[in-house]
Amino acid sequence: MVLAELGGRITRALQQMANVTIIDEKALNECLNEITRALLQSDVSFPLVKEMQTNIKKIVNLEDLAAGHNKRRIIEQAIFSELCKMLDPGKPAFAPKKAKPSIVMFVGLQGAGKTTTCTKYAYYHQKKGYKPALVCADTFRAGAFDQLKQNATKAKIPFYGSYTESDPVKIAVEGVDRFKKESCDLIIVDTSGRHKQEASLFEEMRQVAEATKPDLVIFVMDSSIGQAAFDQAQAFKQSVAVGAVIITKMDGHAKGGGALSAVAATKSPVIFIGTGEHMDEFEVFDVKPFVSRLLG
Ligand code: GDP
Repeated sequence: MVLAELGGRITRALQQMANVTIIDEKALNECLNEITRALLQSDVSFPLVKEMQTNIKKIVNLEDLAAGHNKRRIIEQAIFSELCKMLDPGKPAFAPKKAKPSIVMFVGLQGAGKTTTCTKYAYYHQKKGYKPALVCADTFRAGAFDQLKQNATKAKIPFYGSYTESDPVKIAVEGVDRFKKESCDLIIVDTSGRHKQEASLFEEMRQVAEATKPDLVIFVMDSSIGQAAFDQAQAFKQSVAVGAVIITKMDGHAKGGGALSAVAATKSPVIFIGTGEHMDEFEVFDVKPFVSRLLG
C-alpha cells in the first residue's frame, strides 16, 4: 500500500469512529483494528503494530476522559505521537564535521541502491561545503567500480577503486588512507551487496568495518521489500554497528512500513530517503512531516 493510501485508510477509520454517537471500548477497538490492518498491509511488522495498539489504548483511557472531550482528536493525536515515536530511536545519527576526517560505510543488499545513494550522500554534503570522497570496496559485483566512477566523475567527487585487486579490505584501507592524506573530511566506503543475507557478505562487511573503523555505518534499504524489512535490517545490525538508515525508492510504489521496521530493528534513525535515480533526488528525512503525510 502506498503512503497516501495508508493515510486515507487511517483517516477513514477515524472518521467512522467520529460518526458513532458514543465512542466506547468497542468503537475504539474497531477503529484500532482497522488501523492495524492498514499498517500491516503497508509492511509494518506485526509485533510493532501490536505494540502501537497497546500503547494507544494506554494513552487513550476512555473512562478517564471527561465528557465533552474530543475523543476522536485525542485518539488521532495518540496515533500521531505513537508513529513519531516508532520512527525516533531517541538518539541522533553521527553527523560528520567539516575539516575533520569522518569515515562513513554503506551496507545493504545488492540492488538496494547503495552505490547510487553513496554518491547522493556525497553530493549532498559537497553542496554543504564538505570535501567528500568515494571508495569502492565492492569487488563482488562486476561493474560496481565503473558505476561509482561514473557517478563520482559526474559530481566531481574524488574516488578510489581497483579493477584488479580482489580484496575489499585492502581497497577500503588504501582508499581511506589516501583521502585522509588529501584532507577529505567525508570518506565514504561503498561495500559489496549480495542477493541474499549470506554469511560471506556479513563476514566481509565485518572485516571492512574492523579495518577502516567507520564513524558511521549506514544501512541502505529498498522501500519495496515489504514485510522482509524488519528481518533484513536486524540481520545487518547484528553483524555491523549500523548507526543510520537510508530508505531508497520512495518514489513509485513506496511503502511507509519499511521505515518503521528498519528503525525498530536497527534502533537507528532514518536520515535520508531516496526519491529517484538522479543525484539530487534525495531528501533529508523528517519524522513529523513523514507521519503527517502518512496520516493524510
Ligand atoms: P546497489 O546494488 O545497492 O549498489 O544498487 P544501485 O545503486 O546499483 O541501484 C540499483 C538500482 O536502483 C539502479 O537502477 C538505481 O538507479 C536504482 N535506484 C537507486 N535509488 C533509487 C531511488 O531512490 N529511486 C529509484 N526510482 N531508483 C533508485
